Amino acid sequence: MHYIDVILPIPLENRFTYSITEAESGFLSIGMRVSIPFGKSKIYTGIVASIHQVKPLIYEAKQIHQILDETPIVTEMQLQLWQWIAKYYMCTEGEVMRAALPNAFLLESETIISKNNAIELNETDLKDDEYLIYEALQRQSSLKIQDIANILDKKNVLPVVKRLVEKEAIILNEEIYDKYKPKYVRYVKLTEDYTTPESLNQLLEALSSRAKKQRDVVMTLFSISAKTKKPVKVSDLVAESKTTSATVKALVDKGILEDYHIQTDRVVYDGEENEASKALNEFQTEALQQIKTSFKTQNVVLLHGITSSGKTEVYVKLIEEVIAKGQQVLYLLPEIALTTQLVTRLQNYFGEQVAVFHSKYSAHERVEVYNQVLNNSAKAKIVLGARSSIFLPFKDLGLIIVDEEHESSFKQFDPAPRYHARDVSVVLASLFKAKTLLGSATPSIESYFNAQENKYGLVEINRRYNNVQLPDIELVDIKDKQKRKKMKGHFSDRLIEEMTEAIADGHQIILFQNRRGYSPIVECNTCGHSPQCPNCDVSLTYHQFRKQLRCHYCGYNSAMLIKCMACGTPGLDSKGFGTEQIESEVRLLFPTLKVGRMDLDTTRGKFGYEKIITAFEQQEIDVLVGTQMLTKGLDFRNVKLVGIMNADNMLNFPDFRAHERSFQLMLQVSGRAGRTNKQGKVLIQTYNPYHKILQQVSINDYAGMFKEQLEERYNYKYPPYYRLIKITLKHRDYNKVDMAADWLAKSLTQLFKHNVLGPEFPPISRIRNQYHKNILIKVPQGQPLGKTKEAIKKVNTSFAAIGGFKGVRVIINVDNY
Ligand code: ADP
Ligand code: ZN
Repeated sequence: MHYIDVILPIPLENRFTYSITEAESGFLSIGMRVSIPFGKSKIYTGIVASIHQVKPLIYEAKQIHQILDETPIVTEMQLQLWQWIAKYYMCTEGEVMRAALPNAFLLESETIISKNNAIELNETDLKDDEYLIYEALQRQSSLKIQDIANILDKKNVLPVVKRLVEKEAIILNEEIYDKYKPKYVRYVKLTEDYTTPESLNQLLEALSSRAKKQRDVVMTLFSISAKTKKPVKVSDLVAESKTTSATVKALVDKGILEDYHIQTDRVVYDGEENEASKALNEFQTEALQQIKTSFKTQNVVLLHGITSSGKTEVYVKLIEEVIAKGQQVLYLLPEIALTTQLVTRLQNYFGEQVAVFHSKYSAHERVEVYNQVLNNSAKAKIVLGARSSIFLPFKDLGLIIVDEEHESSFKQFDPAPRYHARDVSVVLASLFKAKTLLGSATPSIESYFNAQENKYGLVEINRRYNNVQLPDIELVDIKDKQKRKKMKGHFSDRLIEEMTEAIADGHQIILFQNRRGYSPIVECNTCGHSPQCPNCDVSLTYHQFRKQLRCHYCGYNSAMLIKCMACGTPGLDSKGFGTEQIESEVRLLFPTLKVGRMDLDTTRGKFGYEKIITAFEQQEIDVLVGTQMLTKGLDFRNVKLVGIMNADNMLNFPDFRAHERSFQLMLQVSGRAGRTNKQGKVLIQTYNPYHKILQQVSINDYAGMFKEQLEERYNYKYPPYYRLIKITLKHRDYNKVDMAADWLAKSLTQLFKHNVLGPEFPPISRIRNQYHKNILIKVPQGQPLGKTKEAIKKVNTSFAAIGGFKGVRVIINVDNY
């Protein structure tokens, strides 16, 4: 007998064994998809992970339904990586598989259930089992019957689904899972019967008497194909012969023409011819040499180059060398930096060898890039992508570049796998014996520490390209300014002066504010009540543009209140400020300037960022107000002034990384100023100009910041000295979470003693009607990580067996950065 083990895209601990025929075993290889029956009646797409002759001991192996591929779509390297990720990040291979494959590959003929967004539902009207499903649908856009059975842990779930439909909470979709359809173009040619000159002449004669229009079409077809010697598109034929597609159809129906389809690529590059890469200056050349030397002994090198030092051009040289050997390159970036700016820059050098992969791409585009990478196609030698591109099926990877390696968006928080793309990159590269280059102007403490410990090579560039000086950074004490009445709204006199000057010189301005919306807290003048989100433990943020109060955690919104809900007095005050308020203040202060805003609210949709970035680039906007989105590797040529509206709220954020993050954020946003020829200017407004971090930012003292932060990390037992594993428990019942967390923390403390912190309710302890409680496990350097995780898993298994804690979700986050 022959068997296969398959990975299924569901959170199951084990692979499943199915039986196959001898013929099938001859045909199948590892990495192909099969459709298999699962449970009573479900069908899943699984990936063949091994082929063998060992009968499973505990259950009778079922037969597979169907083989879905002729060749593997998952490589053995990917399977190894999945296994590593599942083990390291404490999730299942099935969860990794789900994240790794484009959705369109996981076809399942099942009912699809999604949330009915058309109505506002009162969640208290739902029974417990109904609520669980409704809640899951807020996290996931759709569920299948099988998922629901898994969530509720019972087989017959149709009655619950039926009730939810009756309550109009969900919608059903009886269709086959949206399958990838390549984009086809329709072509026409003459049918066989008319390929000889005689038959063609006869045809034309026959048509000229009865159907003159059709005759013209045939003549035109003839002349286009004679001219181009290529297949003729229906659309071209219709245009050229000035006819309609109905005429073409009539000819097809008569059997005179024949239409056919050719698959075309959806993701097309329509740029110009390739341009030669730039000659490096002496500092870049030196850095390139050092990187290459370092790669002789190191697998990972950190390039620490200040903003605008020309790191990208150094990457370009390395990429040229790798693709000249026929190998592939993965270039990882935070999502937002993947806008036309960098994409066109690279396409100018490498033409259509560049493929782009990120979450705003459609399912179809993702499949296309996936297949190109799988086939090591010339069209995807260089993949520019956001974090999920580490899952692509590389065949011959030579180099991974992780640009802006300090960015926290490389870590996925939800759902599992909760991986860090930078760290996975290092593993992925090592599977291929390839190299990894990490680049940043403000490296993460971890990476810089690794470089200091000689685990990574370290190369630095300390000059801006063109030798432009780093911007001059000035701290503005707004407490003092307020006292002396030198503030207009949130603008100090210094900021207004500098803005006026920059504009007079024809330059552009960036204003950075960490929060979006108009003001984060609305408060009653009389009784002090402030409106809270009904689902979460937070105040609602006022958005002036829509005159709405919104929750930034669950999306809840309501119209702005006219009077206080508690005491009924009109006169609500807003406290704190966000990007929207800054935008409107700029309009008041400088009525003639064009102001733009870049934050989550203005950048939705596929080309959301792109539009704003392009408008700013083309100087259609004078002042751009934005959140941290502005910091991610953008290159604007005409920005002279950067204003940081308030440095304090980031510094005071309750997280051990708050200082490191603030330093990175402020230096990155400052780095947008004066990139071309004149020194830029940065103003940082703060209540506390003597703060260590601000002092370090003002003189670009990375080394000082690093040294000090490292000491703190050592003293308080944080990374890079200790690894962190965070466990979050969630349930809608406060007491249940509380008790469950106590039990879990106690059991863990028996194992790990004082290295277990908590359980503790986080500052925002309720989100989307779920209470959260956290436990933090610190793993010291000497303690084997693998064994630690095994032990946690065991405790978790005992936990899951306790009836009273049923329904409590336990989320494990390894390296909770
Ligand atoms: P970084 O990635 O270090 O912030 P970039 O690579 O974006 O810096 O370079 C900053 C600017 O300098 C870009 O506009 C880039 O085109 C220009 N530049 C960098 N190196 C060169 C070079 N060798 N020749 C010409 N222009 C360069
Ligand atoms: Zn909310």
